[in-house]
Amino acid sequence: MLRETDPKAELRFRELVESAPDGIVVCDRSGAIVLVNAQTERMFGYSRGELIGKPIEILIPERLRSRHPGHVAGYTGAPRSRPMGTGLDLSGRRRDGTEFPVEISLSPIQVDQGTLFSAAIRDVSDRKRIEAEARRANAYLLSSVDSIQDAFSLYDEEDRVVLVNSSFRQLVGASIAGAIVGRRFDELADAILPLLDPGSEAAADLRRRWLDYHREPTGSLELRTRTGRTLRITDRATAEHGTVSLIVDITDDILRAEELRRARQQAEAASAAKSEFLASMSHELRTPLNAILGFAQLLQRDRKQPLSERQLERLGHVLSGGEHLLRLIDEVLDLARIEAGGIAISTEPVGVRDMVAEVVTTLEPMAQRAGIQLASEITEVADVVADRTRLAQILMNFGSNAIKYNRQGGHVAFRAAPRDSHVRLSVVDDGFGIPEDKRAKIFEPFQRAGQETGPIEGTGIGLSISKRLAELMQGSVGFTSVVDRGSEFWVDIPVHVAAADTEAARKPQVAEGSALAAAPAAHKVVYVEDNPSNIAFMRELMSDLPAVELLTAPTAEIGVELVRAQQPAAVIMDINLPGMSGFDAVKLLKAWPETTHIPVIALSAAALARDTSRAREAGFYRYLTKPVKIDELLDALNDVLDS
Ligand code: ADP
Repeated sequence: MLRETDPKAELRFRELVESAPDGIVVCDRSGAIVLVNAQTERMFGYSRGELIGKPIEILIPERLRSRHPGHVAGYTGAPRSRPMGTGLDLSGRRRDGTEFPVEISLSPIQVDQGTLFSAAIRDVSDRKRIEAEARRANAYLLSSVDSIQDAFSLYDEEDRVVLVNSSFRQLVGASIAGAIVGRRFDELADAILPLLDPGSEAAADLRRRWLDYHREPTGSLELRTRTGRTLRITDRATAEHGTVSLIVDITDDILRAEELRRARQQAEAASAAKSEFLASMSHELRTPLNAILGFAQLLQRDRKQPLSERQLERLGHVLSGGEHLLRLIDEVLDLARIEAGGIAISTEPVGVRDMVAEVVTTLEPMAQRAGIQLASEITEVADVVADRTRLAQILMNFGSNAIKYNRQGGHVAFRAAPRDSHVRLSVVDDGFGIPEDKRAKIFEPFQRAGQETGPIEGTGIGLSISKRLAELMQGSVGFTSVVDRGSEFWVDIPVHVAAADTEAARKPQVAEGSALAAAPAAHKVVYVEDNPSNIAFMRELMSDLPAVELLTAPTAEIGVELVRAQQPAAVIMDINLPGMSGFDAVKLLKAWPETTHIPVIALSAAALARDTSRAREAGFYRYLTKPVKIDELLDALNDVLDS
């Protein structure tokens, strides 16, 4: 069929056709197939034999077949090399009826018998699929940009708009006419500027600030609109040397933050009110207790008219009941203050051995009464970082529990061991132990683990205070216990890394009673107090101390004058006084040259930590709380009179 002038050339032609990547189909003028290559067979699923002599329409979808001979006739009438059906989506049909997208280029071939027509067919399924995916991805991208609630805009390297979303259009819509894409950024900025409130800034300065930011964006820029809204603009450079910009309306966030701030302020005010309430409650409760415990102690010590055994025993109940009530007030107040965040923890390096030795000394009388052997087994251990008083409070609580919940002849030991970045201080006893079903809640307030009906006094608050205090010192508490064998309570406290000088300077201890045992009326002491029963109590107490001449003043105003005139050796000052307060009075006394050297001991019913630190700042020599602990007061007096 093909021109047979050169058999070698024909062979080469056939080889070329066979190896072509496209399917090659040659037809005659009537549209009958005269030659196909192997790629055509693969592409359409026909064998060569099934195709030769068949109309070319066998290879196109049935729905298009009827019109095809017309196209063939059109082409064969004016044949030239050209792509077929430019701009149309062409499809091929496989033997199994499935269709696939194709591209076809047509060429006439001159042979001896006349003109034949070749079609080079390329299966473009892969390309079409990739194109469709790219289109879909693009559509996704555009619709996501459009669904961003904030105003989005993208600029090319010449700072012209490439893409904006609907929110951006809305923002500038009213102030700009015509298309936005293609405009320069500064044009858009100029359109938006009239909507902005420049505040105290000149409009031109605001414009410059915005353009500068857009050129070299770092962080974000906040602008206010004339309608009172706040916009946060965040621009970033793109990899293509353009800029992407997002304008977010943060007005609601600001309002919410403001609401939160106000709510926090209210909560803080409420918590402060709670602390104040607790402070005054404790004052109210302590004042009458002061009278009860003070006079009970005086009756107990009355040497002139000693009480009978029976009376002393009854008085013992009054005292222990009063002390229990006082402890309860103190503990509830302590817990409430911790919960209100009202206690200040001040940490410092603390030498464990010395501190535990003091705790053991304090607990010793209690242990002796209970017939318990108490010992510190601590030898060498690193210092910890803690609030010394508060850490001692935790160990006192563990220690007194270990003594209380124990039998005569029992043992209590304090131990310390390093534990990673902490030191574990533990108190081990061989007492009652804690029943398993009570263990989970033991650190919660008012949980007494089965002791609520027993004879051992307690409030159930100590352990919960200990836990919170440990946490405030970046520590933790825990315990193990076996019923009838004993318990171990421990507190882990951060270790002090660079162990500093642990031998803190201590005040020299005054030999007891030395100054107070001086000649009669050797020392004048002024007591400023408005409560008659407190004055009576103090008079009684001082009557046992002939060295002291007690002068009293019912108000701070009278008190300071009395001090100025009498130049006493010491002043004992109540804080809550009618008129001038004890704080104001001590300030005056410290300010006057003739009284500045006179030590003033505060004796107050207010027991908040805040008062203690205020007292120190105000210039008090010492701050004691009511009800008066006689030994404590005598110690303080002894110290001032001796110095
Ligand atoms: P309180 O001793 O005032 O009741 P705590 O909070 O200190 O309150 O202790 C709570 C409870 O835990 C105690 O009532 C007691 O039942 C139990 N408990 C604490 N320590 C020990 C211990 N070492 N041995 C046995 N039980 C203990």
